[in-house]
Amino acid sequence: MHIGVPAETHARETRVAATPETVRKFVAQGHRVTIGSGAGTTASFQDEAFAAAGAEIVDAATAFSGDLVLKVQSPTESELSWLKRGAVLIGMLDPFNAESAQKLAAAGVTAFALEAAPRTTRAQSLDVLSSQANIAGYKAVLVAASLYSRFVPMLMTAAGTVKAARMLILGAGVAGLQAIATAKRLGAVIEASDVRPAVKEQIESLGAKFLDVPYETDEEREAAQGVGGYARPMPQSWLTRQAELVHERAKQADIVITTALIPGRPAPTLISVETVQSMKPGSVLVDLAAGRGPDIDGRKGGNCPLTVADQVIVHNGVTIAGYTNLASMVASDASALYARNVLDFTRLIISKEGALTVDLTDDIVAATLLCRDGEVTRK
Ligand code: NAD
Repeated sequence: MHIGVPAETHARETRVAATPETVRKFVAQGHRVTIGSGAGTTASFQDEAFAAAGAEIVDAATAFSGDLVLKVQSPTESELSWLKRGAVLIGMLDPFNAESAQKLAAAGVTAFALEAAPRTTRAQSLDVLSSQANIAGYKAVLVAASLYSRFVPMLMTAAGTVKAARMLILGAGVAGLQAIATAKRLGAVIEASDVRPAVKEQIESLGAKFLDVPYETDEEREAAQGVGGYARPMPQSWLTRQAELVHERAKQADIVITTALIPGRPAPTLISVETVQSMKPGSVLVDLAAGRGPDIDGRKGGNCPLTVADQVIVHNGVTIAGYTNLASMVASDASALYARNVLDFTRLIISKEGALTVDLTDDIVAATLLCRDGEVTRK
């Protein structure tokens, strides 16, 4: 089978869907692998390394002409025309974007959106949301530390003592927990919160203080359980109490990192404009939900309405970073983990004889299938 790995062309996308390590495995299975020239350069994987692993270095159109095409992000409209009808496409294809799914269906490809994999033990090794969020959480802390004009750890020097930075981390899923772990390694004093009660223990085991917003009704308690490991929108009563607590804690914080997401819905607003205005001058907010929040005057904010996607702005002395692709800022390791996720997924759709099969009785295959035979299959 011909497996094509084109270069990514979206702005700020530096990752690549295969590495020399995964190419070597595909080649060992008897496949022909083509890599778009320069596809791995921004992730520090040179064409020569791919060639040494057994790949052919080709132009973009050839890489897109594979029977199986491995991507990080959805192809652009012009790239879609290079895909063969009947080809299989794997990537982070934005499964909640109906328009994009329709375009892929119209191109006649069988497409798998890896973000839609279930959060089960069997799916862990191909869980791209986890592998990439882990990196984003780590990088968010480093970005915050470099935008912050003070030290993060406590320092006792001959010239006096510097206090440790206080960090507030909102949302303690994969990204938030890694942000806590990274902030701890840097010596910050950390408070963290989430809607799901299960994370209290995880937050505390990483050495952070859990900010509790107790549930007052059965409706709040039930919503907080989430579904499939994910959060659901919380009732307004709980969100109001959470906002009051967050407002008080954000006033004391030097660095705030927000990571709250709800699949298929706009990210919740956790840091209001008033809260930002009450924060200390020089403090920093890194909003991992940038570009995924509610619509504000024709643009999307994040967990804070002031966040501007892919910009660093200063509001009332508070620096707000809205990077939308933090994983791409750690391109080499992000690609290495993503490529292993992809390789693992291909084991579900390539038979021992090397043929492509779509077994809809497999829950991972069924959940990730976005379109097939010209139809969008994902509801
Ligand atoms: P996510 O990226 O969708 O959301 C990030 C976090 O935001 C979540 O923890 C969510 O509860 C939180 N959040 C949503 N609304 C909030 C609000 N108003 N205030 C505060 N926090 C809010 O989630 P994720 O990190 O991809 O995964 C969530 C959970 O799924 C993980 O923590 C884990 O328990 C589970 N998971 C399970 C597996 C597995 O079993 N294989 C794999 C990955 C994740």
